[in-house]
Amino acid sequence: MFTRYFSSNRKLLTGSILAGVLIALLCGSLQFFWSYHKREAKLDTLMSDLHVYMESYFDELKTSIDALQPLTLGQCDDVSAKLTSSAAFSINVRAFVLVRDNIAFCSSATGAMNSAINDLIPELNIQKNIDVELLSGTPMLPNRPAIAIWYRNPLIRDGGVFTSININLTPYLLYTERQNDFTGIAIVIGDKALTTMSSRLFNTRDLREIPTRTATLNGVPLKINLYAQQWTPGELFFALLFGLVCGIAAGTLIYYLLTVRLNPGKEILAAIKRGQFYVVYQPVVDAGQLKMSGAEVLMRWRHPTMGEIPPDAFISFAEAQKLIVPLTLHLFDLIIRDAPLLQTVLPPGAKFGINIAPGHLHADSFKEDMRRFKASLPPDRFQVVLEITERDMINQREARSLFEWLHHEGFEIAIDDFGTGHSALIYLERFTMDYLKIDRGFVNAIGTETVTSPVLDAVLTLARRLNMVTVAEGVETPEQAAWLREHGVNYLQGYWISRPMPLPDFIQWQPDFVKDSE
Ligand code: C2E
Ligand code: CA
Ligand code: CA
Repeated sequence: MFTRYFSSNRKLLTGSILAGVLIALLCGSLQFFWSYHKREAKLDTLMSDLHVYMESYFDELKTSIDALQPLTLGQCDDVSAKLTSSAAFSINVRAFVLVRDNIAFCSSATGAMNSAINDLIPELNIQKNIDVELLSGTPMLPNRPAIAIWYRNPLIRDGGVFTSININLTPYLLYTERQNDFTGIAIVIGDKALTTMSSRLFNTRDLREIPTRTATLNGVPLKINLYAQQWTPGELFFALLFGLVCGIAAGTLIYYLLTVRLNPGKEILAAIKRGQFYVVYQPVVDAGQLKMSGAEVLMRWRHPTMGEIPPDAFISFAEAQKLIVPLTLHLFDLIIRDAPLLQTVLPPGAKFGINIAPGHLHADSFKEDMRRFKASLPPDRFQVVLEITERDMINQREARSLFEWLHHEGFEIAIDDFGTGHSALIYLERFTMDYLKIDRGFVNAIGTETVTSPVLDAVLTLARRLNMVTVAEGVETPEQAAWLREHGVNYLQGYWISRPMPLPDFIQWQPDFVKDSE
């Protein structure tokens, strides 16, 4: 299925590129989503760290302030020392200010004072238990934003503790530590915001970015916004690069696997290179004396993993893959290699039947290939018989001129598997052929009560009339041999005589019936 689908190289290449692109997309998006997810998880932890930090900070502040609330009942002179030391031990606190009757009367930073709290921080609503405001600065540090936070003392009228705290420090510290993960943090109180992007206060309306995370504190009306990009160009670039690398690697691998592993067409060429093909010789004997007159050369493929592959399978496959020409040329090479040894044991004029597939017969290179083959064999030592099946002669005009040319060059022609085609008898009269190889289907039927023997009889009579020499294939039993000899068949080939043999066995071969009679 697979190999048939990817029969042509172009299809294979397109298929591999397509697969590569798909894998590139898949890997790229997986990588992107993975880094996106990682980033989301990082932002979650960052936000939660910030939240926990701020919450515990304000919790501690509340505890410190609760401890200061009783001081709002006293006089500044009596309590200022405690107030100052408390501020000194509270992180980021600029000043604690005690308020009674709407009047700020004592500051940890400046000591006794007498200012209406509304004048100090008009926005602060001291009727609330807790109120928070963002300040662009305090009298002592006018350019440094601060948080003003008010804790009412419920025991006295219009009184409580007010404090200003630095807020620039904490987020900046966090920010510098993980600045690759996000673009900024904002602390939002009411409609004002302080961000890490600028040192001045913003109105929340002017915050252009939409935060990726927000958190509100428990008990303090303050919101923390975290700003981060959905993805960074670096991540996108990395995902693209990763996808590209995966795609190229996968595409190449698929192409390699399809061409080398799954495409047996290529495998045939590889097998030729690696010497996995070899030839076997099956003797053909003359029917009279049962002496060897020649042999049919048959190809074998010893595959390293699949074992012996039958020629019926790989020949038709090689034809489909348009590789029959290189395969036949390889067969010629194998015969040429064996020729020196063959000529030492075979009688002069010994016939070699070579199967020629139609794909080669009609190839442009055919004549040249045959000439070269002949020229490479020992001169006038062997008679090459080309075995051609009936179906190869469909293009009659071409076949006729080709046969004439072959005869002229000194080749003989046998019609192979005779009787299996449709218009066999017509061909016999139209073409000049030297041998007629009767298909083993007919031979098989000899001795059984079927109707094929009369057909075989008729074929033999016709062959005799046309002066054609007959070879019976697939002779397996002495009964079949006897029948064929009685009916005037000229040559016999089949397991009864010998199975096809590799060269070392073939050159030592002697027919059993000859041996028996010795
Ligand atoms: P074929 O040309 O008809 O070759 C004869 C086949 O019959 C061979 O099968 C041979 O081993 C087998 N055979 C011989 N005697 C007997 C017998 O007594 N009984 C039985 N049952 N079988 C017998 P093989 O070698 O498997 O080849 C099968 C076919 O593959 C060949 O049929 C031929 O068409 C093709 N083939 C083999 N080698 C080549 C080659 O080098 N080139 C081409 N183009 N085709 C080849
Ligand atoms: Ca044959
Ligand atoms: Ca045959």
